[in-house]
This record gives sequence, C-alpha cells and structure tokens, in this order.
Amino acid sequence: MAGRVTGKWTKGAALALAVAMTAGCSAQTGFGVLLGNGESTAAMSDGRPKDATTLKEQGAGQAARENAQPEDAELAAFQPKEDKEAGIADERAAAASVKLEKPTTGTTHFSAKQGDKLIALTFDDGPDHRYTPEILEILKASGAKATFFMVGTQLKKYPDTVKQIVADGHGVGNHTYHHANLAKLNENEIKQEIKTTDALFREAVGFVPHLVRAPYGSVSDVLKTVVRDNNRELVGWTVDTMDWDGATVTAMRGNVNKNARPGGIVLMHSFGSKHLRNTVKLLPLIIKDLRAKGYTFVTVDELLAAKAQNKKAAQAQGKKMG
Ligand SMILES: [Zn+2]
Repeated sequence: MAGRVTGKWTKGAALALAVAMTAGCSAQTGFGVLLGNGESTAAMSDGRPKDATTLKEQGAGQAARENAQPEDAELAAFQPKEDKEAGIADERAAAASVKLEKPTTGTTHFSAKQGDKLIALTFDDGPDHRYTPEILEILKASGAKATFFMVGTQLKKYPDTVKQIVADGHGVGNHTYHHANLAKLNENEIKQEIKTTDALFREAVGFVPHLVRAPYGSVSDVLKTVVRDNNRELVGWTVDTMDWDGATVTAMRGNVNKNARPGGIVLMHSFGSKHLRNTVKLLPLIIKDLRAKGYTFVTVDELLAAKAQNKKAAQAQGKKMG
C-alpha cells in the first residue's frame, strides 16, 4: 500500500519535472540537463517509504524474514534497529562541530556535443556481493557507464566491490552511513553520516566523492546548507523504477522508456531489497532500448559537467544576441 502511495507521488514529481524541463530547456541548447538541485530532490521520493510508521513496518517485515535467507538477514541488519540508533545518537552528540574534508573528485574532462542525448543510470544502497557484481558485469559487457550511491555500512563490508566500481570507470557518491533520513538530523549529525562514509571511500579508493544522494530523497534546508558549504552536490533522479518494491521487469521497462529524457537520471538499486533480481533482468533491456533511441550513458559527474557546459554556452549565446 505504501508503495502505491509512493508511486503516485513519484508520478506527480516526474510530471512537475517534465514541465520544469520544458520550461528550462531553450531552443539553442541541444540537451536539457536537469537535476542536482535541492528543489527537485526534495520533491521526489527515493522509492522507499518516508514516514516513520511505514519504515518501522518495513523493518519488522525484514526482521521476520531474517531466518528465511542469508540475503534477508543482511537486509534486516541494513535497517538500523531502535537500540542501535540510541548508541549512535550518543556518538553523534559527542561529535560536536564535525568537519568534512574537501571532496577530491568532481572534475571531469568529458565534453558533450550539442544535441547529445545524455542519461545517467544510478544504483543506490550498495555495494553488496550479489547484485552489484552482476550489475557491473552487465555494464562492462555493454560498455555503459553508471553511478553508484553507496551506504557506509555496506561499503565497510564490501570494499573490493567499490574498488571494482571505480576501476571500471563508474561514478560514485555518498548515500550516508546508516541510510539515514537526513531531513530529521541536525547539522552535526548530517556531517557525521557523510564523514564516516567519506572515510570509507578514502580507505577503499583513495578519494572522497563530491556527490551526495539523500536517502528517501529526504532533504532539509540544513542539509542543503551542509552540502553547499562543503563543496558537495545533491543528486536526485527523474525516473524512479520502484525496483526495490517488486515492480515487474515489464512495468519498469515501460516506465523507463516512457519517462527517459535527455539529461535524465534513472534510479535503481544494487542492494536493499529481495526484488533486485528484476533489476538485473531489466538493465540489459533498458540499455538496449535507450541506445536505440540515441542515448549515451554517462556518469552523474559527466551529466553535471555537461549541464555546466550547456549553461555557459547558453550564456555566451545570450551575450552575442544581446
Ligand atoms: Zn537509498
């Protein structure tokens, strides 16, 4: 039921975005690159239930499945339990005035041509040792680039998968340490969530990513300030596959094909749901479909660079005309 509500919500957000895109995309710019701003992020759901009650329900369901499969046990651990949260709160309180280090990625020399149809495939909540490697295999075989927004608790368990992601040329971003609802945290708590995952990135791949994606798409003004003041960039999405919620391959394929736009960002997951078998089946199909429509798969970094380049070109054009 929660899924259905979230679905409606997302549809509304996608519609609003499509309108925003039409309005924001001028005739002389070949591709409208959208996203990365707090407003669009805030308007979207991360395809997961947002309110505490639904979250608790989801957690309980996962706990009940704990003994069914090893995968489910891992999922249950992924959702922090109340008592674990209490200890973390103490830790957070002690971390007064947390300081974030400067991100060391974000510069890209990617140069998009006018008229390029760029799109970014993104995978949240990993890495893991099951779906993420399969997704990497598919991406490698098809030569498509993607971006992985990773959760610290998973990063800690699978640093080799993160190394592989980076070695394969994909983008990475910080998705907090505990998959926390950042809109409910204060400044120091937000920084602590980001900082702990930054340290794990540094340890695994030697750099700190500048991209941040808020779990549940849950964004506050405090978060926007933290992100801006620390040279980070918030990343949302334009197409939510709802893969975590058990959407069928056919439904997801139809959704992606219907809602894909130049400059779009497609949300999928590489950990966090038992339904991700469908994501693995979906991936080669949408790569084929979108390529047939002329899309190029780029990382979010590359998409944002193209957006900046696009803006600069539009400004130069404006000056010439003025
Ligand atoms: Zn997430």
